[in-house]
Amino acid sequence: MSSDKPIIEIRNLKVRIAGKEVLKGINLEIPRNKVFAIMGPSGSGKSTILRSINRLWDLYPEVEIDGEILLDGKDVYAMKDKEVRRLVGMVFQRPNPFPHMSIFDNVAIGLKMNKLVKSKEELRERVEWALKKAYLWDEVKDELKKKASQLSGGQQQRLCIARALALKPKVLLMDEPTSALDVVSTKKIEETIVELKKDLTIVIVTHNPQQAARISDYVAFVYQGQVIEVGPTSEIFTRPKNKLTEKYVLGKV
Ligand code: ADP
Ligand code: MG
Repeated sequence: MSSDKPIIEIRNLKVRIAGKEVLKGINLEIPRNKVFAIMGPSGSGKSTILRSINRLWDLYPEVEIDGEILLDGKDVYAMKDKEVRRLVGMVFQRPNPFPHMSIFDNVAIGLKMNKLVKSKEELRERVEWALKKAYLWDEVKDELKKKASQLSGGQQQRLCIARALALKPKVLLMDEPTSALDVVSTKKIEETIVELKKDLTIVIVTHNPQQAARISDYVAFVYQGQVIEVGPTSEIFTRPKNKLTEKYVLGKV
């Protein structure tokens, strides 16, 4: 697969939930090894775009989906569940580690369940690798047996990032990953995200345009279930073509 081909292609995606048209025909091409931000006001459909990409519909019996989503050229909706979970990592707004499990086990469990490592040594190495990638290793290396619930909110979120990275996904989806965190933790996570794009593609949802401006390479502005404008972050923030985008980036929507 040539590396300039987008890692994710979303074509005419329409989503109805409980009869309501939540996404009204969305098209997006998400380039590889970049940070791609989806920004827009609350209720505009940002989380629904992420849920569409990783097929996280378990809690939504009333969802109807139309259109196509390709991951590395393959139809996501034709893949096995297990394959989607392997290839697409997810981090949520509220840090949700398994609270009673140790730091180590939080990162190790997915590797064990999916039989992705062959030995204890390999498991240990992969856990260390993932915690390093999430910039948590130095803070926890001497207390890997400590329960996840004993970590701070920001550390718990970096643990969730490590847990997702351990499976070596192609794409990491992040749904407002810092909105429950303080400024210092937010800064650490933002630095982590920017570093991670060397290894994979990040799609981050944010309702904070400043955050999109700080860390993303490309940005899509979503409003009322439609992509209003998409492009390189520097262009969207300095020369928006659409009046609504302009208002939004100036903080007026
Ligand atoms: P955002 O993440 O941008 O805040 P969402 O994707 O969560 O927006 O939701 C977009 C719209 O979809 C909301 O305005 C809401 O009306 C509708 N919606 C989302 N989830 C449900 C649901 N479970 N049942 C009914 N409507 C929903
Ligand atoms: Mg949301």
